Amino acid sequence: MSRMIIIELIDAVIEQIKRDLNDNEDATAIVELLLSVPRDALEAYLPDSYEPSICPTCNGSGEGMHEGTTCRVCKGKGES
Ligand SMILES: [Zn+2]
Repeated sequence: MSRMIIIELIDAVIEQIKRDLNDNEDATAIVELLLSVPRDALEAYLPDSYEPSICPTCNGSGEGMHEGTTCRVCKGKGES
């Protein structure tokens, strides 16, 4: 979980909140609220399965072995 940047973390928490509340309202107010919440609390809110793993083939870059190519394992996502 420590690899996630805070914006990704907040996005993930918002998605989780929407699932929990079955609510698709504008997320702006939720973002402002979450920015005041400690990061640990945000991470604790997410299911354990959330953490994406870095693609070992491209080491998360999404690039293939040669310049201008896309990693064939993760299709350029950088996650496996
Ligand atoms: Zn890859």
